[in-house]
This record gives sequence, C-alpha cells and structure tokens, in this order.
Amino acid sequence: MTILILKKNIRKLALERIDLLIKYAMFNVKLDPKLAEQYIVRARKICMRYRIKIPYEITIFFCKKCKCFMIPCVNSKIRIGGSKLKSIRITCNFCGHIYHKIISK
Ligand SMILES: [Zn+2]
Repeated sequence: MTILILKKNIRKLALERIDLLIKYAMFNVKLDPKLAEQYIVRARKICMRYRIKIPYEITIFFCKKCKCFMIPCVNSKIRIGGSKLKSIRITCNFCGHIYHKIISK
C-alpha cells in the first residue's frame, strides 16, 4: 500500500520536473540553444526512467521525424493551410519534415 502511494507521488514529482525543464528550455532556446537541448534530454530521461507519457501540450513541440525540440518562430514554421480542410502545417527547420494538424472539417 505504502509503495503504491510512493510510486504515485514519484510520478507526480517527475511530471512537475518535466514541466519545469520544458519551460526552462523554452526560455533559453533563443539565448542558449545548447542549454535548452540539455534540458530536453534530461526531461526525456526522466520520462523513460519513470515510464511517463509526455503530455499532449508538450508532444506538439517535438518533431515527429527527427525527434528534436522545435519552438514556433525559432526553429519551426507554423502556417495555416488554405484548402477545404482547415489545417495547421508545422515545418521542422532541422529536417524539413511537415506535420499537418487538422483543425476542423
Ligand atoms: Zn525534424
């Protein structure tokens, strides 16, 4: 019983830590991209260590192809698609991969 509670608390703490690391990375990406990358690597390691799924709000910022961290206007482009389907196109500046996100039909 106590072990279960402990595990839950550890996961909560780990999630908080990941959230903080991502925030720090976002603040530092313009000033010091290498430091930001280190923060991201650390956040990933925590995720693997405690088997946590990264929240959806954060997974948007990762490139689906090269798995690098991309921030709008810094190392990724965001464009609105203008066809029948309303969508957002997110382009990674590292590998050029385009990720479509459909808003509405
Ligand atoms: Zn990429």
